[in-house]
Amino acid sequence: NAIAPISYLDTLNPAQRRAVIHGVGSLFASPLLVIAGAGSGKTNTLAHRVAHLMVSGVDPRRILLMTFSRRAAAEMAKRVERIARKVLGDGAGVLADALTWAGTFHGIGARLLRDYADQIGLDPAFTIHDREDAADQMNLVRHELGFSKTETRFPTKGTCLSIYSRCVNAEMPIEDVLGRSFPWCVAWAAELRDLFAAYVEAKQSQNVLDYDDLLLYWAQVMADPDLAADIGGRFDHVMVDEYQDTNRLQSSILLAMKPGGHGLTVVGDDAQSIYSFRAATVRNILDFPAAFSPPAEIITLDQNYRSTSAILAAANGVIDLAAERFTKNLWTDRAAGAAPQLVNVRDEADQARFIAERVLENREAGSTLKQQAVLFRASHHSGPLEIELTRRNIPFVKFGGLKFLDAAHIKDVLALLRFVENPRDRVAGFRILQLLPGVGPTSAQRVLDHMAQACDPIAALHDAPAPPRAGEDWASFQIAVAALRSGGCGWPAEIERARLWYEPHLERIHEDASTRQADLVQLEQIAGGYASRERFLTELTLDPPDATSDQAGVPLLDEDYLILSTIHSAKGQEWKSVFVMNVVDGCIPIDLGAGTSEEIEEERRLLYVAMTRAKDDLHLVVPQRFFTHGQSSTGDRHVYANRTRFIPNGLLGHFERCVWPRIAAQDAGRAPSNGPRIDVRAQMRGMWR
Ligand code: ATP
Ligand code: MG
Repeated sequence: NAIAPISYLDTLNPAQRRAVIHGVGSLFASPLLVIAGAGSGKTNTLAHRVAHLMVSGVDPRRILLMTFSRRAAAEMAKRVERIARKVLGDGAGVLADALTWAGTFHGIGARLLRDYADQIGLDPAFTIHDREDAADQMNLVRHELGFSKTETRFPTKGTCLSIYSRCVNAEMPIEDVLGRSFPWCVAWAAELRDLFAAYVEAKQSQNVLDYDDLLLYWAQVMADPDLAADIGGRFDHVMVDEYQDTNRLQSSILLAMKPGGHGLTVVGDDAQSIYSFRAATVRNILDFPAAFSPPAEIITLDQNYRSTSAILAAANGVIDLAAERFTKNLWTDRAAGAAPQLVNVRDEADQARFIAERVLENREAGSTLKQQAVLFRASHHSGPLEIELTRRNIPFVKFGGLKFLDAAHIKDVLALLRFVENPRDRVAGFRILQLLPGVGPTSAQRVLDHMAQACDPIAALHDAPAPPRAGEDWASFQIAVAALRSGGCGWPAEIERARLWYEPHLERIHEDASTRQADLVQLEQIAGGYASRERFLTELTLDPPDATSDQAGVPLLDEDYLILSTIHSAKGQEWKSVFVMNVVDGCIPIDLGAGTSEEIEEERRLLYVAMTRAKDDLHLVVPQRFFTHGQSSTGDRHVYANRTRFIPNGLLGHFERCVWPRIAAQDAGRAPSNGPRIDVRAQMRGMWR
């Protein structure tokens, strides 16, 4: 290798360095798998590899980098630039900017499908449906087929969509999916098959793709040897982070991209596989080496650089009890540090108070809010905490929760833009037409049917018979669509035009119109970051911005804020202090009754992922009572909870245990009383029933 030893390689350990320089300079680098536990530097190694390739003369436009989220891709690009800067100085910026093929599988899929649209019989102006739009589409089709009559108890639109999605992602026949995961729907197999056929047809006639389609169509494209060779040939290197959470479609795409495996690098950790509910399969990572001949080079890393040894020991203890696992335990040369704390609190309100108080104490002690994160199993678990933080004026950003874009008024404006982009998109059409006063489903359907039959749907919109009770609003709607469609307003100014049309409706529909108006202004600002309406709609649908405590939207970059995140969305990240909420049976694992043993194992890995996010201190909070939200057989009520089964007594030695507030400690021996534990009177009444 002609490249002189470079300082950035010296910061790596020997195994990481081998992964970084593997095959660089060779056209036929064998495929590479880096498989290792949390915090061992996999992502960091991948970033160094990209930088090293660029420094060694590989054109960054010929590197395809797929990460778990758009945020992860952006962070990776920043890291690459920082590393390359050590050698290239300011030139690194130019190269990093040229790293344009970095994103999620879905985002990359959408781009390639538009690029190749004319070769695969697709109209490149397709719009993308998020899960909610897809469920609405499913619902429209259900109605049309007459499956939704209340007396038939046909599966809900959400269930239908989940079944459909599972079938296509796992490439499994419907009967198997029903038998395995939706046994109560087995009787509907034939109807569901008809429904899915009609759903596919509806999407195609409307030129709409849902999330699954992005992978499905892409995989189809890759099944054509010429197109596959063409697409694969655009990239010298294809790299995937968090490979343990890809599904079969994704792996088939990847293998078709580089059949011999040359230039393929995947990294991951089987102990962190947490997306099987989206048909991700840990087999992908385990089967990767043998998919090639000669097989892939495997590099394992065993040093953890993230956590103190006390935290690492506790996390290792938890994952050691897993039934099956490939990656080995990690070691660290970091100091022991404080033992992770298991904190008993009475209920969720106390849990929120405890966390808020500790977060502020940490800030007093010199940690910023951004260095701290609170993790939870399900998005709605953070409700009481959000209230407490707001009360104390602690700003926060929530990842993986309700998104900014989920708000009705934002969706309305986006639906208008989507309708303008693709007038055949019926879900968008229904939403937007029904905003007009006096227009209900029937008149909306009449307009949309009229448009669907025409070659030019926009022209058809203008000669469509006016809905009987729409009045003036009908004309102003037609004018707005025409203005937006002509492109005369320019991008992103057209958002303002859309907002002006929408505002009278906003005021009519919503009481809190003024805060919602502020959101729309915020949307205009976000839009400024995208090159076109199409890019804006695509990117936002695939990976929407996160919700914040601040009504006005995303906090400014230099502002300090606490991170709230579901454990799933915390993947790959790290913070100085981490709080994990509701570490109780019924939350982690989430559903004791219904879970199969594989599902329970996945919950154990989830706890491992949560614990391994912490660098210096870790708090696991155990409320003795918590509120279930009817997601399980227990329904909507307060239940008494036990510490999670994943921390049995044998592991308690890894933790420091405490009770909060401390007064309760003096009460030790007696359960803290906060409401009755049993209802004696109800039991008496029950005796006579
Ligand atoms: P996860 O499994 O959680 O995604 P990971 O294996 O991708 O973790 P990274 O996020 O890449 O791990 O690295 C964890 C931390 O260790 C980071 O702060 C990174 O900067 C640091 N690190 C990685 N390698 C080294 C090294 N050789 N020397 C010092 N620090 C390192
Ligand atoms: Mg990582």
